[in-house]
Amino acid sequence: MQRYEQDAYCRELETTLTARGVDEQGRHWAVFADTILYPEGGGQPADRGRAGCVEVLDVQKSAEGPRHYLAGPLAADAVACTLTLDWERRFDLMQQHSAQHLLSAIALDRFGWQTTAFHLQETIGDIEVDATPTPAQLAELEEAVAAAVREARPIRGFRVQPEEMAKLGVRSRGLPAGHVGDVRLVEIEGIDLNTCGGTHLRSTAEIEALKIVATEKMRGGTRLAWVAGGRLRRRLERLETLAADLRRLLSANDDTLTAIAQSRLDQLRDADRVRQNIEGKLAEAWTGLLLARAAAEPVVDLHDDDATPALLQQIARRFVAAPGAGILLATCGGAAGANFLVAAGPAAPTTAALAGQRVAETLGGRGGGNGPIFQGRAPNLDARAAAITRLSTP
Ligand SMILES: [Zn+2]
Repeated sequence: MQRYEQDAYCRELETTLTARGVDEQGRHWAVFADTILYPEGGGQPADRGRAGCVEVLDVQKSAEGPRHYLAGPLAADAVACTLTLDWERRFDLMQQHSAQHLLSAIALDRFGWQTTAFHLQETIGDIEVDATPTPAQLAELEEAVAAAVREARPIRGFRVQPEEMAKLGVRSRGLPAGHVGDVRLVEIEGIDLNTCGGTHLRSTAEIEALKIVATEKMRGGTRLAWVAGGRLRRRLERLETLAADLRRLLSANDDTLTAIAQSRLDQLRDADRVRQNIEGKLAEAWTGLLLARAAAEPVVDLHDDDATPALLQQIARRFVAAPGAGILLATCGGAAGANFLVAAGPAAPTTAALAGQRVAETLGGRGGGNGPIFQGRAPNLDARAAAITRLSTP
């Protein structure tokens, strides 16, 4: 039995190296006579820590004992080794894992909901139950969990022979096929007895608190996402900061925040509609002016520092639809980067692709496009006049 199972609170251990190697992916690994680092299993992630001064990145079960995957090789002559546990991370996982036992046990005991799966992630945990809880039931479940936390019920792990399990009334999905030997049980006094190989707290009091933060309907039941322990305080701190930022940005308080955000979004949508309308009218006016010039000039141009490429597109599309249209060079932006567009109407002596390529070369930019419109970007428009001259030269 490894030390992590005997004492989940042991943070440092003197042990000896029993095997070492490098796997196919080039990762160094080591096996020790004993370990305080939990290997991934039963839904609980692997621990992290250090072996001597080398970082332990992962721990996985293997035939010769837990394999510690290392950030680099141990010293060539290493025999004795001090293992150190990343305690902050482990204690968080113990809080989440113990919280899951309590949540699942009370969900079953009080409502008859079976936990069909659970996931323990770095920021959130979830259980899947074979039921569709109402909000009132979830509130009752949370309340019952809080009561069990306040009662500071002892949690302990021990091993029994498989035949003893039935007598004890263990809540379990059954042992894996081919299981040999004794079975590890974890008990929350008066509430739960379950098979589990993971690491747990000493008392439900150390769970601190548990909050269900989201529910999601799924086939055959519901996923309940929850946060417990120190995570809950850290999450609250993050959300409080977020709420404070939003209140400040929107000059709102908690009561008005949603309504003010909604009204700002409505205003944005309205303003966007007005802008589109004005852009359409502007494009029409520009096109009229350009087409009047096109009757006498084979190449016409327009520039507006503040126009958008989308507005230039609108103008170009209208322009090329007119029977007498030749070549159009439209530009926007300035010294900090510019956009250009070349359009070839029905009366143009060349294609937009050829004309566009010439402009791109002249401006030192690049672009592309099929059909009657070529669009591109250039660092600046210093050579704009030269580009017009080049377009006007057959
Ligand atoms: Zn467990």
